[in-house]
Amino acid sequence: MRLTPGPAWPIEIPWPAGDQNAPGLTLEHFTVTETSDIAVFGTAGSGDVVPLVGRTTNGFVATFDTEAWLRMLKSESYRSEHVLPLSARLPFHYHRLPGFVRNALASLLLRLSKPRTEGFPTHLNDCGPLLLTGLLEERPSTHVAVLTHDIDTALALAWIDGIAEAEEAVGARSCWNVVPRHYEIDHSQLGRLAERGHEIGLHGIWHTNQEAFLGDALAREFDALGELRQRYAMRTYRGPSWYRTQSMYDVLEDYFDIDLSALDTDLLCPGGPGGVGLAQPFHIRPRLVELPCTVPFEAPLLVGPRPAHIVEFWKPKIRLLKQLGGIVVVNTHPDPNYLGNPVMLAAYKALLDLLARDGWTFRLPREIAANLREGDVFSGSRGQL
Ligand SMILES: [Zn+2]
Repeated sequence: MRLTPGPAWPIEIPWPAGDQNAPGLTLEHFTVTETSDIAVFGTAGSGDVVPLVGRTTNGFVATFDTEAWLRMLKSESYRSEHVLPLSARLPFHYHRLPGFVRNALASLLLRLSKPRTEGFPTHLNDCGPLLLTGLLEERPSTHVAVLTHDIDTALALAWIDGIAEAEEAVGARSCWNVVPRHYEIDHSQLGRLAERGHEIGLHGIWHTNQEAFLGDALAREFDALGELRQRYAMRTYRGPSWYRTQSMYDVLEDYFDIDLSALDTDLLCPGGPGGVGLAQPFHIRPRLVELPCTVPFEAPLLVGPRPAHIVEFWKPKIRLLKQLGGIVVVNTHPDPNYLGNPVMLAAYKALLDLLARDGWTFRLPREIAANLREGDVFSGSRGQL
């Protein structure tokens, strides 16, 4: 359903540019009758325009079943499940294709990808679900930013220390996700990061994109990595290429506290468009927190904006996240075809400065998981699936 602002939309929150959509909305009841009290309208595929959120003396109310809708978003049941991709079946590792070729393929996929169901998402800044939840749910008072990096190839290793130093210069620490069976891990480098307060997470096993489809065999791979997981007290996971399945989450909750494999707006997973819509952590399993990525920092490079404009590209979304109580969850790849080059590193430093100046508090994924368990500002209704 395509969203448009009504007369009661809060004027201090600029409505974002471009189409804004939300999947799976089924109208239950109409509690709002005065047009002047409507904050958000929805336009269905049929062209019918209906009120979705109204303003009352007690705050904003929805005309749809918000609990059922949130459940559907969190499980992404509005889209089809990811299936084992071709890249996982090649006789060679797809990372043997040079980085610029992989970027060109990713760019092509992003340009060709069309929303499969419900018209969500239509572009990288499609924030429809955030516009609704931001009005309907309690907004946390602290503005939290989480920095995460997926170390996809050994070529990234040379860039890690410089990136970490730039983060430390603004008082931030980040989560570095490694692929242990794909390249030689430099334990002195990871040890230095861990000592300085950074977090080490796991980014799949081989990065062949088969990880999410292994079922119980994934548990055996995690068991075999027991020593590595213990050495760095790993509690955070992100699957390769954003592939995620229900069976993957079933295994993850036995090994990790928090997963980073979902995005709020997903046009990046080669498995097809989707996204959980939400910009807050929530329990995807009773013992596993999901923290959706909201700022896939390098993704705009695949659709047009050059590195010099990339921070400008993200500014409106970062402002919206602040106004609607969302978390900034940044993802980068220190590999040379993404963040690992001087021009992109300069852009990343500009992002860090912006977040620090703008009053965002930097937190690690493991801290978000611990906070959610202890029921602080991040719990509330968002924490309950
Ligand atoms: Zn990756």
